[in-house]
Order: sequence, then structure tokens, then C-alpha cells
Amino acid sequence: MTGAGAAPETYARPRPDNIGAMSASIPPSRRPGLPLRARLAATVGGAAGRASRLAGRGDGSVIGGVVGLRLKPDLLSLLARGRQVVLVTGTNGKTTTTQLITAAVGTLGQQIASNPFGANMEAGLVSALARAPEATMAVLEVDEKYMPAMLKATGARVVTLLNLSRDQMDRAAEIWLLARRWRAALAEADCRVIANADDPLVAWAAGQARNVTWVAVGQRWYDDSWCCPNCGSHLRRDDEDWHCGECPNRRPPVSWVLAGDEVIDPTGRARPLDLILPGRANRSNAVVALAVADVFGVGVTQALNAIGQVRSVAGRYTHVERRGCDLRLLLAKNPAGWLEALDILAPAPVPVTLAVNAQVPDGRDTSWLWDVDYRRLRGRPVFVTGERQTDLAVRLEADEVAFRVVGSVDDAIEQSGRPSMEVIANYTAFQQIRAMLGRAA
Ligand SMILES: [Zn+2]
Repeated sequence: MTGAGAAPETYARPRPDNIGAMSASIPPSRRPGLPLRARLAATVGGAAGRASRLAGRGDGSVIGGVVGLRLKPDLLSLLARGRQVVLVTGTNGKTTTTQLITAAVGTLGQQIASNPFGANMEAGLVSALARAPEATMAVLEVDEKYMPAMLKATGARVVTLLNLSRDQMDRAAEIWLLARRWRAALAEADCRVIANADDPLVAWAAGQARNVTWVAVGQRWYDDSWCCPNCGSHLRRDDEDWHCGECPNRRPPVSWVLAGDEVIDPTGRARPLDLILPGRANRSNAVVALAVADVFGVGVTQALNAIGQVRSVAGRYTHVERRGCDLRLLLAKNPAGWLEALDILAPAPVPVTLAVNAQVPDGRDTSWLWDVDYRRLRGRPVFVTGERQTDLAVRLEADEVAFRVVGSVDDAIEQSGRPSMEVIANYTAFQQIRAMLGRAA
């Protein structure tokens, strides 16, 4: 939770008339045809969200939805009716891809409902739609577990599947079950699926959907997909290609490809991906967003122009001036996310501060730290902080990375004495640092 007086975040958005969905005010729902009780539920929910914000309890995007759903349990279906809904799910990249799609599709000039701060369960989706009663389109990030139910409730036109890997260790066993549920839900649904063919679990999950656009955007984390999801045999890999030696399961033919710094569209034309957001993971997210935008008739050049201007996503990648030091904030919630963050670090000797907590949203178990290779941090100043700094310290010692334990990011700034610093934090540690820096959720 962050303070009510927090400074507003600056976002590069495609055009001002598309940001109504993300504005701070929540007008009462005026969608035509919404039953009286649903209108009341949306209005009361909106009021609760406003009250929550005024009380300094976060951005109010969840509490409003919770209150609305109490009054009208099928509120999400009612609010989604008559809109074109895009759902975005996967272990990593949901929030960024949601924002990139919103930017790209926003070039059509329509108002778009969205949940740009990652409130991605039912109440968050309700709030996003209630906030933008006039929006005919919605681009919504959805938690992996809730995707089947949210697909059913919203009647989404497009479902976007990014990747599937272990999140916190205490949820690792669930990803195969998740893939099974996705597969069943998508087999029944009448929607377009945009799916990453390079992730065997995702490919399998989308394998029975009627209408799939396959994108090849790579897979950063292999350790959850050594086995064929179809039959359990060992998967064989040859560069990006993969197939099962025992059953017909193989990488599907792809329409969109991320090739280095370029995107290749379905006609075979390559264009440079000129992004402000750093790293390969964001180039992957951008290609997915281009494929989604294409469903709505947005041309690649037009979409790329909009996507290329997004510079920060819910505070991630933001540069913050703090005590004379240029801090860059990177969020890493799970092993795949840490690999992505380590990939985009500024070169040594720029110091790095790592902050790890183990609260409920982070996962209580920090043994996932042992899944991440920290050796590439050798040879530069490394500072360690957060509630589980000792766990992190033990891990770094095992990887022979020199480090100093500090009480806070401010201590790290003071001790390093350098003009810039990278900060990688997991979920609640990131929120705490943002609050300390006086930034909104
Ligand atoms: Zn197989």
C-alpha cells in the first residue's frame, strides 16, 4: 500500500483520449442496457474505490470491484457485455504486454478499459470495466489461475498466452494443472488465441483452440518444459524448434517471429523493433502485442510507433533521481523474471541492489533463489537488502559474488557513491521501495 500523496506516474500513452479508462475518477456506469442492480453495484463499487484511494489505501482498483461483486455476483459478465475484450495471461510479462496492446490498439482512437496496475483477478477486472463505462474495448491482464473463469465471464474475443513457468516455489506443481485447465477452456471457447509457440506448455494449452495465431517469441526459462505435456516423454529441442519423440506433439508453424531486434510479420517482412523498454523479454511482449493489434486491423507500422513510446510499466523500468543517484527499478517475481532482469543490467561497474522479501504475494519459500544463476553479478558492487536479505546473502556466497548487506536502498546509494544504480526487487520489496521513493502503486 502506498501513500495518498504519492506523485503521479508519467506514462507515455498513445493519445490523451484513450486514457479515460485509467484516470483516477470512477464515474457511475452509464452503459446502455445494464440492469439497475448492476448499475447500482458498479456505482457503489466505484464509490468504495474512491473512498479507498482517498484514505490512502492503494489505487482503489480492487476494493471497488469487491464491493460491486458482493452486490451483484455476475457483475463482470454484465459489464463486459457488448465490448470487445482482450485477455492477457502468462507467468511473466502480463502487465507490460497489456500496456503495449492498449497502446497499439489505442491508435484506433477508441476508449479502452484496462487494468494497467496489474489488479488481475475478478474484482480488478470489474473495477477496470466499471471505470470506463463508455469504452467499447477492454484490454485486461488476467491471473493465470483465473483465465478460464474470466474467459467465460467476459466472452473475450482474444486470449493472449505469453508463457508458463514456475512462479513462487510453493506454486510450482500447479503449472501443469494450469495448462490442462487452459486447454479445456480454450477448446470450448469461441475466441482468437494468440499463443507463444516456443513455450511447449503454452502450445499444448492452446492446442485444441479453434483459432490460433502462433507467435515465436522465445522461451527464457526451459526448466519447466523438459517433458512433453501431452505424453510425458522427453522433449527434443533443436534451437527454437522442439518436438516430442514419442507422440505427434511439436512446435506449431508460426505467423509472427521475434528475430533478434526485429519482428517478422506474417507476410515475411522484417522491421526493427525500436523500443524504449529494455531487453529481450520486452521485445517478445511487443511482438505479441503486434499480433493482437493485427486482429483489430492495426497495421504493424502504426502499432510499432505506439508501442515504441511506452517507457514505463506500473513503475517498472522507471528511472528515479534519489540523493543524486539515478536509480532504475526492475521487478523480478520468479526465476524467469530474474533472468530477464539480470539480462538488461547496465554494464559493470554500475552497482546493483537486490531486494528480496517473502511475504504472501512473493511466496513464503525463498528456495527459488537457488534456481537463478547470480554469477554474472561478479565484478561489480552488489548490495543486498529486504526482509530476506540473509537468504539472498547465502545464495550469493554460494555463487562467489561479493556483496554488502545494507538496511535500505538509501544506504546502498550512500555506500556506493556512484551516480547511477540498478535495483532489482521482488514483488513486495518493489512496492516498498516505490513507497519509500514516494511513487504511486
Ligand atoms: Zn509427447
